[in-house]
Amino acid sequence: MQLVFATNNLNKLKEVQSLIPQHIKLLSLKDIGCFEDVPETQNTIEGNAIQKAEYIKEHYGYDCFADDTGLEVTVLHNEPGVFSARYAGAQRDANDNMNLLLANLKEKDNRQAQFKTVVALHLNGKLETFTGICKGEITTEKHGEKGFGYDPIFKAEGYTKTFAEISLEEKNKIGHRGKAVKLLVTYLKEIN
Ligand code: IMP
Repeated sequence: MQLVFATNNLNKLKEVQSLIPQHIKLLSLKDIGCFEDVPETQNTIEGNAIQKAEYIKEHYGYDCFADDTGLEVTVLHNEPGVFSARYAGAQRDANDNMNLLLANLKEKDNRQAQFKTVVALHLNGKLETFTGICKGEITTEKHGEKGFGYDPIFKAEGYTKTFAEISLEEKNKIGHRGKAVKLLVTYLKEIN
């Protein structure tokens, strides 16, 4: 079985491919000849995931799943949330985003945060969504080199290391995207 994962992010492809049963071959956007920016103009994480999956089905005809993730910081009223990628501006720079978040939390005692991923699956004419949440906190400094995005400043509940200091396997076990993708995998196994 082939299924399009609506991303060209190699980190994500690697993360997700390691969770998907081997008989399902993931195709990236590049693999299906999609080189334009897939629109994600909704104001919720769920809305963006659905929009991307529907766009690929409509324009390329493939069954597909798409994910959208946001980092929700309690004391900032769940910001950056749906704006996580472009928190510090249109350049979508991970370091700029982290620096802005650290600055905005400078005087704050409450550093609680959670990553939320919604996966939207368009399969056999039906749309399903799967949500994964990972609770944790924002550190005061960056630590670690692994991962991407906000990983160097996010510590999952019960962990002393950031997401950028733990292995991909560990991150997949406890992480937001891992949890959402596991729900997707369970669903795919059930309908097969
Ligand atoms: P996307 O919807 O998956 O593209 O995620 C939006 C933004 O959230 C990304 O640009 C990253 O800044 C951040 N993000 C998503 N997933 C992760 C993750 O696993 N670790 C750290 N940051 C992430």
